[in-house]
Amino acid sequence: TLYDVDRAGLAALLAGEPAYRVEQVWEGLYGQGREPAELTTVPKALRARLDEELPTALTEITRSVTDDGATTKFLWSLDDGPHIETVLMHYDDRTTVCVSTQAGCAMACSFCATGQAGFERQLSVGEIVEQVVRARRAGRDSTTGDSTTGDSTTGARRISNVVFMGMGEPLANYDRTWAAVHRLHDDLGIGARHLTISTVGVVPGIRRLAVADLPVNLAVSLHAADDELRDELVPINRRYPLASLLEACGDYVTRTRRRLSFEWALISDVNDRFEDAARLAGIANDLRAHVNLIPLNPTPGYAVRGSSRNRVHAFAGDLRRRGVNVTIRDTRGSDIDAACGQLRAVQQRGAVQQRGAGHHHAPVAIRPSAR
Ligand code: SAH
Repeated sequence: TLYDVDRAGLAALLAGEPAYRVEQVWEGLYGQGREPAELTTVPKALRARLDEELPTALTEITRSVTDDGATTKFLWSLDDGPHIETVLMHYDDRTTVCVSTQAGCAMACSFCATGQAGFERQLSVGEIVEQVVRARRAGRDSTTGDSTTGDSTTGARRISNVVFMGMGEPLANYDRTWAAVHRLHDDLGIGARHLTISTVGVVPGIRRLAVADLPVNLAVSLHAADDELRDELVPINRRYPLASLLEACGDYVTRTRRRLSFEWALISDVNDRFEDAARLAGIANDLRAHVNLIPLNPTPGYAVRGSSRNRVHAFAGDLRRRGVNVTIRDTRGSDIDAACGQLRAVQQRGAVQQRGAGHHHAPVAIRPSAR
């Protein structure tokens, strides 16, 4: 598909055209985020050929918007049927896209909706990259009304950050994820420090990241500080128990000299007690890691509740007193099932559905692709 092709592939496809076309098309697609049909510097016949030979991978099914327009969840269908989701989040100081790296997930974490639904297939490089390109375009379209410059690349809604925290386990699709990282970095111009890969703790992948050629951020979904509880919450822990995970994290920090962060979803009476904070603080302090607390978001397959707001703040305070650098992640998009752990690629009933600027459609309407 369109974003699967690399420069060499595009050059091969454009053999016979003037050499500068490759750069022109590439810059149009990535630098300016245009669709082939909008590549107005390119002859019409060539545009049509590109459109024909390099179809896009994602068909938009629904778009759910919340937080006064600051959060948008996209539900896409892939050519062979699977559905995936992408979340676009505007903040005061940045705009972040949260991308999926697999359709479904094989890790089976008990409290995560994606894990509850199981694995469908790996996403290709193009399917990962296109999520960012399409989200960027959507953000731009919805703000063109107040854009005064008309210059899309300098608009306020430039994508500043990409987090690999959507559906799937990025390090279980390492090569394609890493190729997508490069495309985002090299061609979309997103700095490596603005790219974050989150893993459930796939040790061989962490070891590869430690020697990878771009300094992206690494987040590790820890959630438990002892094997008994972690085996239960995060079954991959049976394969890569805490000792091996923490050793890989230690090597990563030593080699890269970068700060790692641990994600910890707070589950009432499961991992939010005083002892849990003490153990987590020990681990985080050893590695000088940052801790990102995530208030548990509700999912259909997990009856246990998230910690109360008070408990979340008390837990954070406890960690801080022990010298740990802590942040509490906001629950962006939880009302449209767009928050952490809620992505499962089914259509929401009752959410504000929107496709295109301000057009509302019934939540169940599946819209075929325009192309
Ligand atoms: N597979 C990778 C990427 C997904 S990131 C990983 O596990 O890190 C999604 C983050 O949301 C992970 O930290 C995950 O543990 C967390 N999460 C999953 N279910 C959640 C839920 N119900 N509430 C809050 N966070 C959840």
